[in-house]
Amino acid sequence: MQFYRDGYRPGDPDIVPAAGYALTRTASMPDRVDVLIVGTGPAGTVLAAQLAAFPEIDTRIVERRGGPLEVGQADGVACRTVEMFEAFGLADRLLREAYWVNEVRFWGPSDADRSEIVRTGWVEDTPAGLSEFPHVIVNQARMQQFLLENAALSASKLTPDYGVEFVGLSTGDGEYPVAVTLRIDGEEFAVRAKYVVGCDGARSAVRRAIGRELRGDAGNHAWGVMDVLATTDFPDWRTKNVVQSDGKGSLLMIPREGGSMVRLYVDLGEVDAATDVRSTSVDRLTSIANDILHPYSIDVKSVAWSSVYEVGQRLTDRFDDGSDDEPGRSPRVFIAGDACHTHSAKAGQGMNVSMQDAFNLGWKLAAVLEGRSDAALLDTYSAERQSVAQDLIDFDRFWSAFIAKPTTDPTHPERGGVTAEQMRTEFARQGRYTAGLATRYRPSALTAVGEHQDLANGFEIGTRFHSAPVVRVADGKHRELGHAHRADGRWRLYAFGDASGAGLIDLAAWLSESPDSPARRFTPRGRDLDHTLDVHAIFQGDHHGVDIGRVPEILLPHSGPLALQDWEKIWAVDAARDIFEARSISREGAIVIVRPDQYVANVLPLHARSELTEFFAGILVDQRSAVAR
Ligand SMILES: Cc1cc2nc3c(=O)[nH]c(=O)nc-3n(C[C@H](O)[C@H](O)[C@H](O)COP(=O)(O)OP(=O)(O)OC[C@H]3O[C@@H](n4cnc5c(N)ncnc54)[C@H](O)[C@@H]3O)c2cc1C
Repeated sequence: MQFYRDGYRPGDPDIVPAAGYALTRTASMPDRVDVLIVGTGPAGTVLAAQLAAFPEIDTRIVERRGGPLEVGQADGVACRTVEMFEAFGLADRLLREAYWVNEVRFWGPSDADRSEIVRTGWVEDTPAGLSEFPHVIVNQARMQQFLLENAALSASKLTPDYGVEFVGLSTGDGEYPVAVTLRIDGEEFAVRAKYVVGCDGARSAVRRAIGRELRGDAGNHAWGVMDVLATTDFPDWRTKNVVQSDGKGSLLMIPREGGSMVRLYVDLGEVDAATDVRSTSVDRLTSIANDILHPYSIDVKSVAWSSVYEVGQRLTDRFDDGSDDEPGRSPRVFIAGDACHTHSAKAGQGMNVSMQDAFNLGWKLAAVLEGRSDAALLDTYSAERQSVAQDLIDFDRFWSAFIAKPTTDPTHPERGGVTAEQMRTEFARQGRYTAGLATRYRPSALTAVGEHQDLANGFEIGTRFHSAPVVRVADGKHRELGHAHRADGRWRLYAFGDASGAGLIDLAAWLSESPDSPARRFTPRGRDLDHTLDVHAIFQGDHHGVDIGRVPEILLPHSGPLALQDWEKIWAVDAARDIFEARSISREGAIVIVRPDQYVANVLPLHARSELTEFFAGILVDQRSAVAR
C-alpha cells in the first residue's frame, strides 16, 4: 500500500482527502449525475467502490431501504472475490473476520442402519495452488459494509442515498440522455444521468424499464436458511458438511465467522408460485434438521437470521439497453447481479458473480467517462458477462441435480443414487468453478486470440491473472505479484525478463521514450507516465543483482503531485518459488498484459513492439488525435 505520495498527513492513511466532485457534492440528489447506481447489494457496492476511485466522475448510489443491510442473504466468498478485494485493499480485513472453508465433509446413511448418518468422506475445499487466497464465509452485509467504507474513505467520499427508490427511466439524446424518476417519501422527482446501472436485485425495476426479462425455470427451489448458535453432539460442527439422509431430506451446513455460528440450508425441494413454503417456521426447520442429523442433534440457543429463500434458474438475454438493430449506439443503461441472473445457493455463486459483473463494468464506465476509451468499450460488458452467466446457469443446473441425488443404498443398488466416492470426486472436480476461477473471456478486442500463449502458459489469456510470489527489488520484500494490481482502472503490463535482462531493459526503454509506446500514446496529456498503463518488470535472477539505478524511466517513474519516484514496479524471482517455473514463463521472457479487472488480455514476446501498440489501439483512445479533436 502506498500513501503520503501527495505529502505527509498525520492519522489514518486510508482516509484520502476529498477531491473532484466530493468538494461540491450536495446532501440532496442533484439534477444531473454521470453515473447513477441503483441498489446497494453486492453488485452496487462493488461498482460504487470502483467508481469512487475516480473523483472526477460524479457517481451517486441510491437505495430504497432506509439504511444498510444488517444481516442475512449470501455468505460464501469465493477465492476470486477475495482476490478482487485485495485489489481494493480489503482482503486483510475480510480474511481476519471470515470463517475459512478448509474442508468439505460428507455424511450419508450408515450401511448398518440407514436411519442413522455416518461420515462417508471429505475433500479439501479448494485444491492447493488454485489461488493464494482461501474460500471464506462472511455475511453479505459485512461485505457490503467493507466496500461502502472504502468508497466513503476514498477521494470521492461516495456514500449511498438511502430511502431513495428508483421508479422508472427513459432514454433520449444529449449529454445526459437518461431521464430517471426517483421517489423519496412518496414524492417523485427527476434526475438526468449519462449512465444508469441497475444493481437492484432479482425483481429489478431497472431491468423492467429497459424491457428485459429473466427467462428460465417456471418453478423455484426452496431452502430454509438459518444462522444458528447451538450446542450439539455432531462432531463436524466447524467444517462445511453435505448431509444426505435416507428419505428425510438433505442439509448443507456451513460454519460462520466468529467460531460458533453455523448456517444450515435445509432443502425444501421444488415449489410453485402457489406454495406456502415461505411460512415454514424456524421450529419446523430445526425439527427437519434434527431428523436429517439423527443420531446426532442440535439444540438451537439463538437464531441470528432465518429466511425461506426461493430461487429459480433464470437469465436475461442482454445486460444492457443496447440493440442489435442499432449497431452504432452504445448502451446507456446496464443491469448487474441478480437483476440479470438467478440460480441456487448450492454452488455459493450469487454474491460472487454479482460482484464480478460490477467489477467488469466499473473500469469500462470510468475509461469511457474519462475519455481513455471510446463508448464502444461498453458493448463488451453484456457480451462478456451474459455468457459467464449462461455458463453459471448450466453449471448450477448440473450441480443442483447432482448434489440432490440420494446416496446409493448398497442393499438396493437398482434404486440408483450417488456413492460417497462419486460425491467426493465431483466436489474435487468442480473446485475450480466454485472458487470462481473458471471464467474465461472469449477472444475480443479486450482479450487476444492467444498466438503467443505458449510463452506464459500459466497466465491463460481470458482467465484471471494467477498470482505467484516475487521479491521487490527496492526493499527485498516478498510479495504476491498479483497484489501490485489495484482497483484503479489501469491496465497492467508485466514484462518478464530474458536471462540477461537486456531484452527487458530494451523494452522498458522503448516504453519510456518511443512516441509509439502505448504508455505515451494512450496516456492523456498532463498525466503521469503510468496513469493509463502500469508497467512492472520481473527479472530472472536474485534481486540483489538488479541495478535499480539504471532502469528506464517507466520502471521508476516520477508521479503524483510531488513527482516522487515510484519504487514498487521492479521485481525479481523468489528463490523459494520461481515465478518463471510456477507459471511456465519462457526463459526468453514474455509480456503479459492484464486488464483493469485482473483478467489476462494478451501474452506477447518480449521483443514485441508494433503488436503491443496495436493491441492497445483497439481499446484505448490515441491521445494525439484526442487533443486534435
Ligand atoms: C432474501 C434473500 C435471501 C437470500 N439468501 C441467500 C442465501 O441464503 N445464500 C445465497 O447464496 N444467496 C442468497 N441470496 C442471494 C444473494 O443475496 C444474491 O445473489 C446477491 O445478493 C445478489 O446481489 P445483487 O447486488 O445483484 O442484488 P441484491 O443483493 O438483491 O441487492 C439489490 C439491492 O437493490 C435495492 N433495490 C431494489 N429495488 C430498488 C429500487 N427500485 N430502488 C432502489 N433500490 C432498490 C435492494 O433494496 C437491495 O439493497 C438471497 C437473496 C435474497 C434477496
